[in-house]
Amino acid sequence: MSAFPQVVIIGAGLVGLSTAYYLAREGFKDIVVLEREATHAQGSSGRSAGGVRLEFSNPSSVRFSQFGLDVFQRFQDEFGISAGFKPCGYLFVTSRPATIEALRGPLAMQHQLGVPSELLAADEVRRRFSYIDLPDLAGALYGPQDGVGDPAAVAYGYIRRARELGVTVRFGETVTGIETEDGRVTAVTTPHSRIETRVIVNAAGPQARAVAHMAGVDLPVLPYRRSVYVTGAFDALPTAMPMTLDLDTTSYLRREGRSILLGMSDPDEPSSENVETDRDALEKIVSTVLPWVPALETAAIMRGWAGLYEVSPDDTAIIGPVDGLEGFYCANGFSGHGFMHAPATGRVMAELIAGEEPFVDLGPFRLSRFQDRSATREQLVI
Ligand SMILES: Cc1cc2nc3c(=O)[nH]c(=O)nc-3n(C[C@H](O)[C@H](O)[C@H](O)COP(=O)(O)OP(=O)(O)OC[C@H]3O[C@@H](n4cnc5c(N)ncnc54)[C@H](O)[C@@H]3O)c2cc1C
Repeated sequence: MSAFPQVVIIGAGLVGLSTAYYLAREGFKDIVVLEREATHAQGSSGRSAGGVRLEFSNPSSVRFSQFGLDVFQRFQDEFGISAGFKPCGYLFVTSRPATIEALRGPLAMQHQLGVPSELLAADEVRRRFSYIDLPDLAGALYGPQDGVGDPAAVAYGYIRRARELGVTVRFGETVTGIETEDGRVTAVTTPHSRIETRVIVNAAGPQARAVAHMAGVDLPVLPYRRSVYVTGAFDALPTAMPMTLDLDTTSYLRREGRSILLGMSDPDEPSSENVETDRDALEKIVSTVLPWVPALETAAIMRGWAGLYEVSPDDTAIIGPVDGLEGFYCANGFSGHGFMHAPATGRVMAELIAGEEPFVDLGPFRLSRFQDRSATREQLVI
């Protein structure tokens, strides 16, 4: 046993737990996860809608999703608990012909990677998904392999296996400081302890910027509230329907058992750590969804919740080491995709820390893309 942990991970959400698991599987010993809350997955991970889709505009994000989908499909075998994955499909609709045109490039790339996504003409969308009422519908992108999983089950699977492999998870430990010396990390401090280490992983989700700041790193990740609502049992929509998203308004709906789950990304929402649900958010979502899914007129909202997206400037995650600070790694800024991308993130973090070549090109996820202006915005964001 070494004198201090080989790796300290800050945050016991999906990303921190996945990283801990893959590191332990890689053979790392003395991994410590520090979490400020009393248990795991109390941040964004416990408030996620669980969507998994393969359609992204950069190949690395597609491959991250493919890895996540594969892990979720055989989760039972590896983790002894089902990830609850249901392959309902994803349907992205738009009334803008220019959006359909812009999707053609990414579609070709997706096909090269074996993703069976397809563009559907407006008539076909109306025929197959008659609950959509968009008079100017231009078409849709359909992902038949996509679906929805259970983030709580996945987080539980990761923490249980990680612990079995020797990972220590310490709750009620808020990281308040990161010590560095000669351009490398040396220790993490909390109100209770000082832990020396040579490797720190920032997996602090919406609080990632504050944690990076402790190490003197400027990380452009901001928290934004996202609200989700669920109706009572509702039979006026098909029992089997894809996760259906309107790219023009960012509003979406899908089946949640006999109920319907609704949400949207409100462009007027300021960055904050507010996770209250309120009437304004509900009214905005309902008034945005109703015009294109009028069948929902008779639905009753039964419950709702809000959580934080951790958003980067180009809606793409920031994953990897930080230039100029040896031993400090980021796994942040998932911009609404951190459930589906947590498995691949954990794997590449373990590969990076082990000094191996990551199984996916991490170019699009480099922090330095914001300095060298090579960042390109993800087109498919909700
Ligand atoms: C409403 C909603 C719907 C979503 N839907 C989807 C979806 O359909 N598909 C999808 O892929 N993603 C979705 N997401 C995004 C996804 O949930 C997140 O990207 C993901 O959970 C991020 O995981 P994380 O581990 O990075 O962050 P978190 O789960 O927030 O974990 C970070 C942890 O760090 C801890 N922490 C912070 N600061 C400190 C500190 N100083 N010391 C110690 N601990 C600290 C926090 O307490 C927290 O537990 C959704 C998010 C929301 C809010």
